[in-house]
Amino acid sequence: MITDRSHLVDLDRRYVWPPYTASQVHESADPFVFVRGEGAYLVDADGRRYLDGKSSWWTTSLGHRHPRLVDVVRRQGEELFHCSMAGSTNPHAAQLAEDLVQVAPAGLARVFFSDNGSTAVEVALKAAFQYWRQNGRPDRTVFLSLAGAYHGDTHGSMSVGDLAEFHDLFAPILFEVIRAPDPSEVGGWERVVSEIEARVRAEQDRLCGVVVEPLVQGAGGMRMWSPDLLRRLRAVTREVDTFLIADEVFTGLGRTGAMWACDHAEVAPDFLCVAKALGGGVLPIAATLASERVYDGFRGGLDRALMHGHTFCGHPLGCAIGREVLAVYRDEEVLQGIPERSARLAAALAEIAEVTGVKRCRHLGMVAACDVGEGGYQGETGWRVAEAARELGAYLRPLGDVVYMCPPLNIPLADLDRLCEIFVRAVNRGISPHG
Ligand SMILES: *Cc1c(COP(=O)(O)O)cnc(C)c1O
Repeated sequence: MITDRSHLVDLDRRYVWPPYTASQVHESADPFVFVRGEGAYLVDADGRRYLDGKSSWWTTSLGHRHPRLVDVVRRQGEELFHCSMAGSTNPHAAQLAEDLVQVAPAGLARVFFSDNGSTAVEVALKAAFQYWRQNGRPDRTVFLSLAGAYHGDTHGSMSVGDLAEFHDLFAPILFEVIRAPDPSEVGGWERVVSEIEARVRAEQDRLCGVVVEPLVQGAGGMRMWSPDLLRRLRAVTREVDTFLIADEVFTGLGRTGAMWACDHAEVAPDFLCVAKALGGGVLPIAATLASERVYDGFRGGLDRALMHGHTFCGHPLGCAIGREVLAVYRDEEVLQGIPERSARLAAALAEIAEVTGVKRCRHLGMVAACDVGEGGYQGETGWRVAEAARELGAYLRPLGDVVYMCPPLNIPLADLDRLCEIFVRAVNRGISPHG
């Protein structure tokens, strides 16, 4: 077993270029070295077990190594791992497309496969742009997106994103976006949406579509907004006949308590992007769902086709996993178990809301967050909370001064109670390290 911890850390420091990490931290910090996953737990090379408070970057909604997903990997190993999707298909891609359409908001009828959240968004942006180009509205070339948005790290997804630390540097090479104001600047989400309504009407001649993370902005700090406002965005985009693109890469597949965040508002977008939990944390798989009306705009010869693809789009192993993820949700009634769990997250938040310095406690479904400082993404209090959680046996990764729990949707109640208890203690310790 290669579990000589210090040797591995040494190799990592010497050879790995990690994402979102300052080199001076990488060179000195003591990272987790995970060697095993078991349900809601991750196991470090030193044998310590940690509750996975963020579902492995929001992917393991069914926990680590769900036996049915492990079986799929084995079974596909006897069949087929990869084949291309242009000019050929495979049983799992064809059936996953049908499965997704069946659980998706009404009207979404076509599935374009890719392999991660950024590309799922990228596909929606390109398809929306091309749709207007070849269907009589070539002046529609600009998207409207929300302040504080995160849609991924590729070019188009960065353009519609709005996180200073991630995107500002690249501004000169990103495309123009109409940016909604930040709720903190105009006095709340209600005002933001009124402003968007006005902009959508004023800019309708050049508006390709409106892109949102429905109800929860994830990486932007677990910022939550209401189903009512989402309904208003659907209404105004309908009114001027432009697209609503729902990026459900984080919120989709039950994270907010419903299958889709859009379901809380009974809203059907024109595009819906799904990734992260679709692969169950086993491997990357993503999909962009579109309405039949959108697809109709691409009917015809090669000159009207969406000239976009990825080597691994629709790969049999990924699609087999995606199907099994949906089947487990159904068979194990995963969504039905959320209210009980969500109530426990809420109770933990209620407890820390009393702590001096804790602000803006919020939760929805299986996301619970609060602010432990005013430093935003650069804040350090969140990192102290994470450090305290590590000592207590849980793996949390803060978004600067925003700390959150985002456990597997099916986390056993005893594990959830333990996670909540650690969260409460860690916040207390992180906020007053000498207290
Ligand atoms: C994580 C995320 C993405 C990007 O997904 P990747 O798989 O990391 O490319 C896009 N949109 C949202 C809302 C996300 O949370």
